[in-house]
Amino acid sequence: MLYFCRGASAPCCEDGVYQAPKGTQDVLPDDIGAWRYVEAATHRLAGEFGFGEIRTPTFEETALFLKGVGETTDIAEKEMYSFVDKGGAHLTLRPEATATLIRAYLQHGMHNRPQPVKLYTLINAFRHDQPQAGRLREFHQWNCEGIGESDPLVDAELVTLLWRLLESVGLRDLSVQLNSIGDAACRPQFIQALTAYFEQHQADLCADDRRRLRTNPLRLLDCKVPTCQPIIAAAPRSVDYLCAACDEHFAKLRGYLDDLDLPITLNPRLVRGVDYYTRTVFEVWPPTVGGQSTLGGGGRYDGLAELLGGKPTPGVGFAMGIERVILNLKAQQVAIPPLDAPTAFAVHKGEAGKRMAWRLADRLRQAHVSAVVAAGDRSLKAQMRQANTVGARWALICGPDEAESGTVQVKHLASGEEQRLSLDAAVQRLSAQPADTDSQP
Ligand code: AMP
Repeated sequence: MLYFCRGASAPCCEDGVYQAPKGTQDVLPDDIGAWRYVEAATHRLAGEFGFGEIRTPTFEETALFLKGVGETTDIAEKEMYSFVDKGGAHLTLRPEATATLIRAYLQHGMHNRPQPVKLYTLINAFRHDQPQAGRLREFHQWNCEGIGESDPLVDAELVTLLWRLLESVGLRDLSVQLNSIGDAACRPQFIQALTAYFEQHQADLCADDRRRLRTNPLRLLDCKVPTCQPIIAAAPRSVDYLCAACDEHFAKLRGYLDDLDLPITLNPRLVRGVDYYTRTVFEVWPPTVGGQSTLGGGGRYDGLAELLGGKPTPGVGFAMGIERVILNLKAQQVAIPPLDAPTAFAVHKGEAGKRMAWRLADRLRQAHVSAVVAAGDRSLKAQMRQANTVGARWALICGPDEAESGTVQVKHLASGEEQRLSLDAAVQRLSAQPADTDSQP
């Protein structure tokens, strides 16, 4: 039996070489610097805002996501990687993190802790969508959630956290889009008005919208089809239907954000791709907005815990796409600090020299100095070329003479200066060099 990953008829190998499945990507060592840079910022900022890290399973029961994101959303209808395992359990690779984090909050009785419980996680997520730039089938998100408190200060904190992260990695000219879509008390009136409005324009709507009008009218506001845009632009606005409590919540949130001078754009058309949101919704957009450009977004989901079988528990959170942030860092030519190249590269001649290089590299690593030993038995010249290519700062030359005398030739590659040192002195010299300076011998 042959197993193909690109549908039933085509193998995922080209010219006999396997390829990564469609919509997935390898992050190669040259790109890891950007990933580490963004990930380090997520850990740092989450810590500064008092969020604790949580790690959860890659798959959950399918029902959790169907209930969580809503059965009539694109994610649930078309995009979930669902399967039945060998024991007959219905499982799904996580398409997002919020439902999982609420499940974990409920399962571990986190309502007993001081509220809100502030959690963050870095995850890979899976959606079977049409891949394009910035849209993958396996992608990565930074998720932050504040669970157990309805104070709009928590909404403001989440919006600010996302904004500060994007600012701190060096992205510029972004905007925060903000809206309130009401709650169980006032949203029905808004949905009613929206449905009545779109029904009047049914003939001019795209086929998907005509279908969604019956299942999930709010989703029409999110439609990207150009011919639907003028109809959407004139549709009723959720902010005009807010009840007094939602109105007050939204006003306070705007006030807290104004206090910090965040560049907020009130966007009455903003809705989100999953059903669980109540009141606050927000997104951060880059300067040029296209179909797949949103860097991150989220909102309040006060009804979600109940949907998942828990007691009523307010919550607010967001997800930020790591790949999209990296795409934008590249587009805006933000300088990303390079990862450290090895400090030392030990080159050698003859078996005795090679053994010396091998022992010396081990001593350096034990002294926390990164050291590479040339493998194979290439010429000294070829090994020196390799040392330069990997960006090492020092070459340690170990030949038969050095092996004989127990000394090593230490060459500073940038200046070309050389010195013969005992092994102890060489280890001492290199471990005294701060990693980020190009100091000379
Ligand atoms: P969502 O969970 O749909 O609100 O998405 C939150 C963020 O995750 C988006 O703003 C994107 O940055 C990112 N994202 C969502 N879907 C994808 C995808 N298919 N490929 C890459 N990034 C994605």
